[in-house]
Amino acid sequence: MNSACVSLTVQHLTRCGAIQRIGELRSTGGRKREVLKLNSETAYFVVVDLEGTRIRIGLANFLGDVRYRWEEDVNYRNRLEIRDLQHGINAVLGNLDPAERSRTLAVGVSYTGLPHASGGITAVNLGWKDFPLGKHLEQFVDLPIFYGNDGVCKILAERSLGVAQNCDNCVYVMAGVGLGIGLYVGGRLVTGAREMAGEFGHMTVDPSAADKCNCGKTGCLEAIASSPNIVRQYFELTGRAGQHPKSYPVTEVFARARAKDGAAMAVIERVGRYLGLGLANVVNLLNPELIVLGGDYVEGQDLLIPCIRQTLQKHCLPDLLEGVELKASALGHEGGLKGAASLAFSHALQDEELLRRMTSPLQLQPQGSGNEEAAALTGGGSAKTRKERKGKPHGRTSHTRRPKGRQE
Ligand SMILES: [Zn+2]
Repeated sequence: MNSACVSLTVQHLTRCGAIQRIGELRSTGGRKREVLKLNSETAYFVVVDLEGTRIRIGLANFLGDVRYRWEEDVNYRNRLEIRDLQHGINAVLGNLDPAERSRTLAVGVSYTGLPHASGGITAVNLGWKDFPLGKHLEQFVDLPIFYGNDGVCKILAERSLGVAQNCDNCVYVMAGVGLGIGLYVGGRLVTGAREMAGEFGHMTVDPSAADKCNCGKTGCLEAIASSPNIVRQYFELTGRAGQHPKSYPVTEVFARARAKDGAAMAVIERVGRYLGLGLANVVNLLNPELIVLGGDYVEGQDLLIPCIRQTLQKHCLPDLLEGVELKASALGHEGGLKGAASLAFSHALQDEELLRRMTSPLQLQPQGSGNEEAAALTGGGSAKTRKERKGKPHGRTSHTRRPKGRQE
């Protein structure tokens, strides 16, 4: 955009409250330079994280800060009933005051699993096989709903809120009960023809390995480098094959490796080597500038990063590896919720109706000294803004539904 267009847009967004002036930069003789920031209370999203062995639901503001959390453990592979999800979403919505409710625009759902053309989702951790999640949610949620698998959501969160900001070529890899990846290439999310791209866990890293994967095959990276498999290998190496309890935390294996326990060190070395091998193939294929470790890998970053780096050096073309950074995520256990928020945010920006609501007049009454978190909202306003440019949500990672009625 040219400077006149930027100026008009800034004026409009400031008037409607979506951005705020927070100061000025010292003049260097030219035009006055203002410092602007997004108003965190411009809009809210209900965020749902269906990852791993715990479901989390919350309300995220425009900047991904989460409040009104509702959490519940799920029994791995036992079918999660929709009424549990309904209870959690209603609990979060029930906490909202009318102003918050009027600015709640959409729902973002992060799940672990595969989408189907039928609209169903298969998620092993939740006991779902081609489960029509969207159909069920639409029965009781009167907001547009956007879905993305956890790798997609997490890399969106890292790009907008985490260590991958301004990075157009990055890879996010995480361990939990499974192993997931998110890929950003040339500033675009990689989702594949049927939104199934990124099954990094099932990349064959050793055809002769005996480790059996959840998918039924052997040689998959997930069978070696997911959290339950790290624990399994530690128990096998210490003469307790088949005895590892599900509750034994992978962080304990990391702790034992730090304490120079030989078996734990051997497991970590193997995990780091195979993870590095998988990532070396990704580096050679996609030429990223950043690899982000997430999930349980964050807890073992001090042990894993040196092993991964060593393997990358062994298997990557030197020119491709030059400048590749390896960092751990800093978004913590809220990464899934922030991912769901980033997903909803990115879709909302492409949706004409949601964009109109985000840029409708917003009257702020700050409470306290400069704490915009506490700013009170009054009314959602009406469509006084210019008609925004038409845009469609990214269909490839979501299924959307128009709201039945206006929320204002
Ligand atoms: Zn597999």
